[in-house]
Amino acid sequence: MTDAPFRNFIDGRFDEPSATFDSVDPSTGAAWARMPAASEADVDRAVEAAHRALRSGPWRRMTATARGKLLVKLGDLVAANAGRLAELETRDTGKIIRETRSQIAYVGDYYRYYGGLADKHEGAHVPIDKPDLDVTIRREPIGVVAAVVPWNSQLFLSAVKLGPALAAGCTIVLKASEDGPGPLLAFAELVHEAGFPPGVVNILTGWGHDCGRRLTSHPLVSRVAFTGGPSTARAIVRNTAENLAYTTLELGGKSPVVVFADADLDSAANAVVAGIFAATGQSCVAGSRLLVERSVKDEFLARLKRKAEAIRIGDPQDPATEMGPLATLRQRDWIEKVVAESVAGGGTLVTGGTRPAGSGFYYAPTIIDAGASDLPCVREELFGPVLSVLAFDTEAQALALANDTPFGLASGVFTSNLARAHRMARDIRAGVVWVNTYRVVSPLVPFGGYGLSGLGREGGLDTIRDYTRSKSVWINTSDEPIPDPFAMR
Ligand code: NAD
Repeated sequence: MTDAPFRNFIDGRFDEPSATFDSVDPSTGAAWARMPAASEADVDRAVEAAHRALRSGPWRRMTATARGKLLVKLGDLVAANAGRLAELETRDTGKIIRETRSQIAYVGDYYRYYGGLADKHEGAHVPIDKPDLDVTIRREPIGVVAAVVPWNSQLFLSAVKLGPALAAGCTIVLKASEDGPGPLLAFAELVHEAGFPPGVVNILTGWGHDCGRRLTSHPLVSRVAFTGGPSTARAIVRNTAENLAYTTLELGGKSPVVVFADADLDSAANAVVAGIFAATGQSCVAGSRLLVERSVKDEFLARLKRKAEAIRIGDPQDPATEMGPLATLRQRDWIEKVVAESVAGGGTLVTGGTRPAGSGFYYAPTIIDAGASDLPCVREELFGPVLSVLAFDTEAQALALANDTPFGLASGVFTSNLARAHRMARDIRAGVVWVNTYRVVSPLVPFGGYGLSGLGREGGLDTIRDYTRSKSVWINTSDEPIPDPFAMR
């Protein structure tokens, strides 16, 4: 695998780019590599290649078992190259090496999981209610998939799209984010090495307004799988008004973590820290709203403050570092603006709210005692290391606060009361509820949101179905001529 030059991967070949842009190392703020900017014509070539590979050529004739073996091989290659890919992701996005190494090694398991599922996805035979007919339901690949991912965890977010799409027999054009696309472009070399036929997987990067728009509205695309923010999701839905592609959306969150007084407070404090300060808060499941029972609020905030102030901030490539920079300067500007507005609106800074000294897009772990739930830090997804705190007195209040958001991606509940844990898990409106734990994922478990957090699910057995469509085949088993042609059978 090479670091440079980074190239788009279209129709089984690495393209010499006609245009490039700088990629910035967030830990220094300096450009470190040139990335290819795909044009609309490049997107057209990629989609046409994916369409050819779907309609003709070896992929179409390949058995599901053989497709599964290719996916398993890809998973093995990802795991074997995890160290190299992790260094690249850390360089290009600022995410700490501790996390990129373990996350990318685990991405291998996602491909192995979908590889194993490829030949276990069956159609059906219908015990039809009419004589002399044999009806089967075939599940066919839905078509060319356009996948669009954001900059954070691109290898991971691609695996939950590529894995089921390829297992189902689809072909795919994957657009990496214009922020930090290096690891996904390098991953294309592994796709090539695994031996997927040309055009089955195409990986490119470029800007959303031209390359992303063309890809998701392309007439040959039948399926769009998007991960990103809600405002981009609205643009994607407008794009798909043109091709009417079946679309799933994995979006942002403002996830509540509810801590009851009867919880193991030290364990809960570690989980809250993991939920908001891991990945510098740049995680869709960031537990950015802490709801804590009033009787333990002061004690719990004191613990959190100590833990937050002890976090080792620094070079993301250093394995000892616990929090790296934000991925982009515009992200830090946005966070600073929302924190300033929230403090001006009555929030109290418990810790943070500052930029650590030095270059790079760093921002200190920040806790705001919000007091009121209408502050911008409580309402907006910040995608940064900012925790907003609200207190409650009763379980009913805790539940009302937890659900007081247009988002509904993840949530956490900390309590030693089993019945309460079940009640909260039942009544919280979010796609994921973690009880006495936080930020755990697996290829075996569906993931996705309610409300503004998205449409559809990724992960688990059902995802492959989402990349297929049914075809009902009716076969007349009678030798008799068709009776009355004017009566419906
Ligand atoms: P973003 O929405 O700005 O960009 C995501 C992708 O969309 C990029 O590749 C971008 O180029 C592309 N894009 C932009 N405009 C487009 C257009 N008009 N047409 C087609 N494509 C277009 O997101 P971001 O800032 O890179 O990432 C942060 C967001 O992603 C947060 O909201 C976060 O919560 C969300 N996210 C969600 C999940 C999840 O699984 N639910 C996971 C990770 C991140």
